[in-house]
Amino acid sequence: MKPQKTILITGASRGIGRAIAFRFAREGYRLVLCARGEEALAETRARLLDAGADCLAVPADVGDPDGCRRLFEACISSFGPPGLLVNNAAVSHIGLLQDMSDGQWDSLMHTNLYSLFYCCRLAIPPMVRAGWGRILNISSVWGAAGASCETAYSASKGAVNAFTRALAKELAPSGIQVNALACGVIDTDMNRFLTEEERTALTGEIPAGRMGQPEEAAEMAYRLLTAPSYLTGQIVTLDGGWQ
Ligand code: NDP
Repeated sequence: MKPQKTILITGASRGIGRAIAFRFAREGYRLVLCARGEEALAETRARLLDAGADCLAVPADVGDPDGCRRLFEACISSFGPPGLLVNNAAVSHIGLLQDMSDGQWDSLMHTNLYSLFYCCRLAIPPMVRAGWGRILNISSVWGAAGASCETAYSASKGAVNAFTRALAKELAPSGIQVNALACGVIDTDMNRFLTEEERTALTGEIPAGRMGQPEEAAEMAYRLLTAPSYLTGQIVTLDGGWQ
């Protein structure tokens, strides 16, 4: 089947999602981006349009099933269904588990995990009809290793890994590839809470001696999404040799 050149990327107003958008723009893909914050999303879209990309930006909360429905409806009415889906949006929560409220737990799980269910169930039927599709879930090394004071985040990413493996088995007979990219520390807003001292200590633990750049994660995402379809159900780690 012919690859479809529309890619939908969640959480694409900044960081890794935005870098993935720019990487695919270079290859002439039609882009559908979402995030909750309208201003940053509009700014990213404007930069992509300046770069010559065909780009739709839809403010949406992927933790909300109705938000996901609106996102896919907008995509379909402008470009048709996406052939490629990148489930990238996520939030972190740093703190002791015992201090976490029900609302904080629910909100994190909706954004980091339920969003994969909401988006995949909308993306899959047209992919099955086309006999072709690519799904990439952005995970974390903490999904396998677990991080102190990030139990909810680690649990959500562990679930993303299991979701990826299971869905890959379900969809391989339909020609749909499902993989995850498990990142180590990537230099984005997600790590802005670190002090200079903490950053130095952290990079000291990473054999590569530095944080990864969003463009490196985007390059890896591009390679996974354009890899032979026999590569499926994999959790590929990009962490400078850290974990
Ligand atoms: P950033 O915080 O820089 O960007 C997150 C993006 O997701 C923003 O565009 C944000 O926009 C959007 N977003 C957050 N919540 C929602 C929501 N509910 N609905 C829609 N969009 C949302 O994060 P990164 O780029 O660093 O992270 C991207 C992915 O990489 C995540 O899955 C993260 O877990 C993973 N990762 C990152 C690592 C790192 O060190 N940076 C390490 C390992 C994994 P807005 O807030 O406006 O909604």
